[in-house]
Amino acid sequence: FPPERIRNFCIIAHIDHGKSTLADRLMQLTGAVPAGSRPQYLDKLQVERERGITIKAQTASLVYRHADGHDYLLNLIDTPGHVDFSYEVSRSLAACQGALLLVDASQGVQAQTVANFYLAFEQELALLPLLNKTVANFYLAFEQELALLPLLNKVDLPSADPAAVAAQMAATFDVVPSDVLAVSAKTGLGLRELLPAVVERIPPPAGQPSQPLRLLLFDAFHDEYRGVVCLVAVVDGRLRAGDKLAAASSGSEYEALEVGILAPEPHPTGELLTGQVGYVIPGIKDVKAARVGDTWHLARQPVEPLPGFKPIKPMVFAGLYPASADDYEGLAAAIERLGLNDASVTVKKETSDALGAGFRCGFLGPLHLEVFLTRLQQEHSADVISTAPTVPYEVELAGDPQHQQQQQQQGKEKQRLVLESVAEYPRNQKVSAIYEPTVLATIIVPQQYCGAVMKLAVARRGTQLDYSFMGGSSSSSSSSSIDSAGNSSASAAAADEHAGSSSSSSTQDGVDVLSAAAEAADTGDSSSSSSSAGFLASDRVLLRYQLPLAELAGDFYSKLKSATQGYASFDYEEGPLRPADLTLLELLVNGKAVDALGRLVPTGDAVRLGRALTARMRTLLDRQQYEVVIQASAGGRIVARETMKALRKDVTAKCYGGDVSRKRKLLQKQKEGKKRLRQLGGLSVPAEVFPELLKP
Ligand code: GDP
Ligand code: MG
Repeated sequence: FPPERIRNFCIIAHIDHGKSTLADRLMQLTGAVPAGSRPQYLDKLQVERERGITIKAQTASLVYRHADGHDYLLNLIDTPGHVDFSYEVSRSLAACQGALLLVDASQGVQAQTVANFYLAFEQELALLPLLNKTVANFYLAFEQELALLPLLNKVDLPSADPAAVAAQMAATFDVVPSDVLAVSAKTGLGLRELLPAVVERIPPPAGQPSQPLRLLLFDAFHDEYRGVVCLVAVVDGRLRAGDKLAAASSGSEYEALEVGILAPEPHPTGELLTGQVGYVIPGIKDVKAARVGDTWHLARQPVEPLPGFKPIKPMVFAGLYPASADDYEGLAAAIERLGLNDASVTVKKETSDALGAGFRCGFLGPLHLEVFLTRLQQEHSADVISTAPTVPYEVELAGDPQHQQQQQQQGKEKQRLVLESVAEYPRNQKVSAIYEPTVLATIIVPQQYCGAVMKLAVARRGTQLDYSFMGGSSSSSSSSSIDSAGNSSASAAAADEHAGSSSSSSTQDGVDVLSAAAEAADTGDSSSSSSSAGFLASDRVLLRYQLPLAELAGDFYSKLKSATQGYASFDYEEGPLRPADLTLLELLVNGKAVDALGRLVPTGDAVRLGRALTARMRTLLDRQQYEVVIQASAGGRIVARETMKALRKDVTAKCYGGDVSRKRKLLQKQKEGKKRLRQLGGLSVPAEVFPELLKP
C-alpha cells in the first residue's frame, strides 16, 4: 500500500460510549475477524473484560475496498480509555492522522471525551479557548494535523437524543453539526457510511519514503513466547526484518527479528512501508527497554527524534507486601512477571519493620495501582497487602542557617527531597516547606449536583478554576451563568474557601467563582438552563479544580460518584506542585512508631485523624496478654492515646488437659496463623488487620 492508500486513525471516546464495540464492528465489516467473534476483541486482559475498560492499547489493520475501486489499508489504533493513561493516549494519537470522536447519543459529552479531544486538538497547534489547561510543550511541537470525524453512537437507544447531542458536540468541539454521523455500533445502523468517510475525510500519512527510517514506538507488550512486541508507526523510510535498529532515547541497539501487521493478530509481512502501522519484535525480554513515545532509527543512521517523548514518571506509590511472611518469593515472581508487561510500573525492594520484606512500586495514577493489584490477585493468585498509596511529596529542608546563607549567596535552590514513601520523611531535620503534586480535574455534572461536588472538592482541599455551562441548545460554550436559585450558596462557600487558600499560596492561575459570576452577570446570560433534554445538554456544568493528587489516591472518586448518584464524569491531568500545610501522622504501639502506617495529613486534620486511627486500632486488636499503649503522634507530638488493659484469663486454660486431638488442631491452627502474624512494636497482629488500618 502506498501512503495515499493508508489511513491511520483512532477512536476517542469516554469510557462506555462504545469504542470497543465499534472497533469489533469495523473488524467484522472488513472481514478482519469473523462475524460473531467474542465481543471486545481487542480487550485481551481479564481485568479489561471484567471491568469493561481498555488498559493496553491494541491496534488492527483492516483492508477496505472503497467506491473508487481501490483497496485501502485502514489502521485502527485502539487507545486506553482511562485517565491514568493519557500519555499513552497521546502517543497513540501521534501515530494517527485522524480520530473518530465518538459520543454516546444518550449520554452526551463527558469529561474523558473533552480531555482526549484536547490531546488531539493540541496536535494541531491550536490554543485552548475553553479550558485553562496547561499545555505540555511536546504536543505543540507535533506538526501533524489530526482530522476529526464526529460520531454519535447508540442512536438505537430510545433515550438517545441525537439532535441535542450533535448540537452539544458542535458547541464543545467546534465541529459542523451536518458532519456528525449517527451510528449504532450494536445494530450496525449507519456503519456503511463510516468507512467511506474515513477514507475521504482523514488525510493519508505524510512521511517521506526516500528518507532514512524513522519509527514512532507507540506501545509495547510482552509475549510469553516471543518476548517484547513493539507497536510502531513508520513515519519515514522503510522497516525490514533483519534491520539493525537503535533507540533515540537510549542509543541501545536491537535487531528487527520479525516485522508485520496486526490484523488484529500478528501477521508477519517482512517489511513495513512509510505510513504503515504494525509491530516489530526486537528480541528483548524487558518491556522497559521499549519506551513508549521513543523514536527508533537504523543503527548508525540517526534521525531527528520525533517530538513528545517523555520518560515514565510514577505519580502514586505503594508498598506491596506478601500477606504471609513466607510468601515473599511468590510475590516477587508475580510482580516481576506482571511488570514485564507493564513498562510504566517501577519496582524497588523495600523493608518495613512492621511488614517485613516487600516492594515499593510506582504507578501512573490511582487506577493504575488498583488495576495492578487486581491483576496480581487474579492472574498470579498473589495474596498481597498494599500500604496506603502515597504521592511524590517534595520536602524542603531548612538546613543550618550558615549553610543556607551560603546557598543563597550562590543562588542555589534549597535542598529538596522527593518522597516515594512516607517512611523517607526526614524526622531529624527541620523541614521548611512541603510541596505536593496536584491534578487539574475536569468534572461534568448535571447542574443539580453542582453544590454537592463543590462541597466535596472544597473538603478535599480543591481550588476552583472554572465553572461553565456545557452549552448545546444555547449558542455559547464558554463560561456563562451561575444559576442563582439553585447553587449560589454552595458556590459562595466555595468562593470563600478559594479566597482563603489563594492568599496562602501564590501558584494559582485560575479564575475564581466570583469573577466567573461577575462575567456571567455582564453577559446577562441567565436563561440557558433547564432545556427539555433533561441531563443531556444545556444543564450540564463543567467544573475545573486544582486538587491534591493525594486526595485522588484516596477515595475522592468513589465519593464523587456517590455524591452525584453516578452522574458525574471525571477526568484529570497533571497539575503543578503546590505548597501544602502537612504534618507527619504516625501510630505508636508501646512507644514505637509503626513505619508502614505513617501518613502526611493536612495539619488542621491531624488531631482528628490521629484519634480516629488509635480508636480504629483499638477495635481491630484483640486484647492481649499484657497492657498495650497505642498512641498517635502528629509532627512529633502525641495527640491521642488509648490503653488496652491486659486480659486477666489465659485463653488456652480452658483447653488444658482436655481432648488431645482438639488441642492438636488448635496448635496446628496457631502455627498456620503465625505465618500471617506481623510485629507491631513487639505486638503480634494478624496480617488481615493491616488493610483495615491502612484505609484512608
Ligand atoms: P468502551 O468502554 O467505549 O470500549 O465501550 P464498549 O464498547 O465496551 O461499550 C459499552 C457498553 O455499551 C456495552 O454494554 C455495549 O454493548 C454497549 N453499546 C456499545 N455500542 C452500542 C450501541 O450502538 N447501542 C447500544 N444500545 N449499546 C451499545
Ligand atoms: Mg473498551
